[in-house]
Amino acid sequence: MTTESRQVRLDLMVSGMLSCKACPLSSNRTNVVPGTGPADAEIMFIGEAPGAKEDTQGEPFVGQSGKLLDALLSSIELDRNSVYITNTVKCRPPNNRDPLQSELDTCQDHWLDAQIAIIQPKILVPLGRHALNRILPGTTIGQSHGKTFTKMGFTVYPIYHPAAGLRQIRYKQLLEEDFKNLNILLKSYEKSQDVQTTSQAPKANIPSSNENNSQINLF
Ligand code: SF4
Repeated sequence: MTTESRQVRLDLMVSGMLSCKACPLSSNRTNVVPGTGPADAEIMFIGEAPGAKEDTQGEPFVGQSGKLLDALLSSIELDRNSVYITNTVKCRPPNNRDPLQSELDTCQDHWLDAQIAIIQPKILVPLGRHALNRILPGTTIGQSHGKTFTKMGFTVYPIYHPAAGLRQIRYKQLLEEDFKNLNILLKSYEKSQDVQTTSQAPKANIPSSNENNSQINLF
């Protein structure tokens, strides 16, 4: 698929998303928050759900978590214009509650899976446990962050949600470490000519997590 045709398909999808009423979250939203970034982005971040600022502006990660995400991207010489950023659900849950399973399922079936299929990122990054559960059900963020997995031909590299880094310095340090390794992983892809045809993620010397069980599923 060419970059142009990807962009056309993504734009078409977004225009459908803007009028979506497939789940009850449509009744509370101010704006749908489809996602931002180029259709041919090499990295696709998936957060949980829009918050109040995102709902107002129609863009993902524009609050405090977004500022930290911007800083983490900047630390590896990327910015949000070079990556794709979206959420598991595109409409804000009332009072920032967790999205319901049915809402998550509906939005993934209608939009998220197709979004991933169009963008075909080299690296798919679930941010936090809610997004991780959509991509790698049965895994925990504490055990899987900073490690690579292969799912349906995509390399999946889970990272804590930036909100975790705002709450505890330890998670901010883990985020910084995982972003450094994300950069190593991305660079290894840039050197690889065969990445699309192999089922194994390239060896990028990504360290294993030493999280203990008490820290699992916090975010
Ligand atoms: S959350 Fe997703 S499925 Fe539900 S109304 Fe919004 S766009 Fe549609």
